[in-house]
Amino acid sequence: MPVNTSAYQSIYKELASSNVTLVAVSKTKPASDILELYNLGHRDFGENYVQELTDKAKELPAGIRWHFIGHLQTNKVKLIIPIVQLIHGVDSLKLLREIQKQAAKAGKKVECLLQVHIAMEETKFGLDETELAEIISLSRAGEFSQLAIRGLMGMASFTEDMDKVGAELRHLKSLFDKYAVDFGQAPILSMGMSSDYRLAVSLGSNMVRIGSLLFGARSAGTTGH
Ligand SMILES: *Cc1c(COP(=O)(O)O)cnc(C)c1O
Repeated sequence: MPVNTSAYQSIYKELASSNVTLVAVSKTKPASDILELYNLGHRDFGENYVQELTDKAKELPAGIRWHFIGHLQTNKVKLIIPIVQLIHGVDSLKLLREIQKQAAKAGKKVECLLQVHIAMEETKFGLDETELAEIISLSRAGEFSQLAIRGLMGMASFTEDMDKVGAELRHLKSLFDKYAVDFGQAPILSMGMSSDYRLAVSLGSNMVRIGSLLFGARSAGTTGH
């Protein structure tokens, strides 16, 4: 399926006018698709799988800002540290500590977002509020010197029920506001996908992750959830 460049142009324009960063989610799509958007000036791309990210980063231009948006296993952290601009899916203290350790080894300041579990589905990853509070207090105590924790990320339930999606996104926004002072000068709230990005932006998102509207539908079993 070809890249929908006209959808890209209009979504990009729509988001730029409200200062929202568009992360083009390119998982399972070929490098040539990424290059097509890159040639239109796009730089922020999101990937879910470590092997796929490292392969693509090797063959694509160095100017790309890679966002890791999938579930990250601790034993794979070191593979992505040299490549990533922002790790969205930090969903455990153990993972955060591993990122801190590998970032120190690499001598790199690593930017990340804490993923909060806001959906009703049990299949989705993320911190609960207690775990989030614990990480924030460790961060305030200086535990993560090698990291820049820039904000929060979350995914709403996969449902047509937009009232439910809205309630979940509002919940994430309220946690984001609660801890905004902990996220530095330009806090990031990564929420919104193809199905709910407009709603997410209206509720305060400043970074959306959009795949299928730009690159077409993925085959079953590759949603990355
Ligand atoms: C796949 C994925 C997206 C993009 O989903 P679309 O519905 O195709 O826009 C966004 N965020 C995460 C975490 C994903 O895994």
